[in-house]
Amino acid sequence: MATINTNYNKLAAGYLFPEIARRTREFLATHPGVTLLRLGIGDTTEPLPPSIIAGLQHGVNKLANKTTYIGYGEPEGDIRLREALIAHYKRFGVSLKSTEIIISDGAKPDSGNIQSIFGVNNVVAVQDPAYPVYVDTNVIAGRTGAFDKTTGQFEGIIYMPCNESNGYFPELPKTKVDLIYLCSPNNPTGAVATRAQLKRFVDYAIANRAVIFFDAAYSAYINDDSLPRSIFEIEGAKSCALEINSLSKTAGFTGVRCGWTVLPEALVVEGTEQGRVNALWRRRQSTFFNGASNIVQEGALAVFSETGWLECQKTVTYYMENARIIRDGLQKIGLTVYGGDNAPYVWLKTPNNLTSWEFFDKLLNECHVVGTPGSGFGPSGEGFFRLSSFGHRENVLKAVESIQSNLLI
Ligand SMILES: *Cc1c(COP(=O)(O)O)cnc(C)c1O
Repeated sequence: MATINTNYNKLAAGYLFPEIARRTREFLATHPGVTLLRLGIGDTTEPLPPSIIAGLQHGVNKLANKTTYIGYGEPEGDIRLREALIAHYKRFGVSLKSTEIIISDGAKPDSGNIQSIFGVNNVVAVQDPAYPVYVDTNVIAGRTGAFDKTTGQFEGIIYMPCNESNGYFPELPKTKVDLIYLCSPNNPTGAVATRAQLKRFVDYAIANRAVIFFDAAYSAYINDDSLPRSIFEIEGAKSCALEINSLSKTAGFTGVRCGWTVLPEALVVEGTEQGRVNALWRRRQSTFFNGASNIVQEGALAVFSETGWLECQKTVTYYMENARIIRDGLQKIGLTVYGGDNAPYVWLKTPNNLTSWEFFDKLLNECHVVGTPGSGFGPSGEGFFRLSSFGHRENVLKAVESIQSNLLI
């Protein structure tokens, strides 16, 4: 008799967003006619700029002609796109080879799949709170025990708290860990790691022969040029880190789908020589995946053109103005907020020590605003709340005005 992968039974997740949807539905059923203002979504909302649309259309047109038609492409991705990425990384002083970049259909698949090339006995460390994919994919792969309801943690995972007292960047793990997930700019806290903070983790990883998985999905939201946009800006990182990124948040490609992993040949782990880990990831991708869509890659090439990049930055600036409106608007009524200056998320401390879910209900009932409870991202998120700056300006303004006028604190 066939059986399932019973690790799926351990997943506590699938809980956060369905629960938000359930409570929202229930509210609407008892309050007909109310229009909700949504600041909960981690998804882009603004249309793609003209040069990116032209790039995508060019990709479509090539398929209509016998001489330009292309079927399967190179498994690592179009060489022109990898060359464009090399030029992009050069701007912040990082030099890469085309073999070190592997194009994919997004940062979520890559950040979920990357663990599969590492041994099942590796000890995993995650920031707490964190993007749920890191923990869930390791649960599915069998690197954890059961979920413990009292601690809110999976057995076997090392949770690195990120809180007010450490400025939302974790201390080094006290025990030896092997695989470390770091996300900067951070979803959900909006915090951005400094060079010095990343250097401590790079030094730890080199000393312990650990690997850092660096999720840079929001790197385009960094305004402050003193903050690193890539972990490879840190000396020594190429021997102990890989980096995952995508055009989802940079260029509104959440539905178009294009990402990449940078896996330096210098990255070595126990018992491997240079290039072996890089080769394993290419092997994994060429076995399970047949390359990103060629239409999408034409669109991605347009993002890295001079005009394309400027147009995409304009949209990023638009979202960051939303973030400023949210942050300033909440500060004005005395709420404590973090993030929102180099990341599209504002991380709000709930007033009067309310739990994240109590504040969710309060915001929904009093202000008709939907956000995301911090506790859904890990136990250290309890007592916090994530507001997203993705959205149309008029909705963001209405939501902030409603919070200012209606929230009872
Ligand atoms: C949105 C997001 C991504 C992007 O995922 P895609 O698959 O590229 O759409 C990756 N990491 C984090 C932390 C995110 O919030």
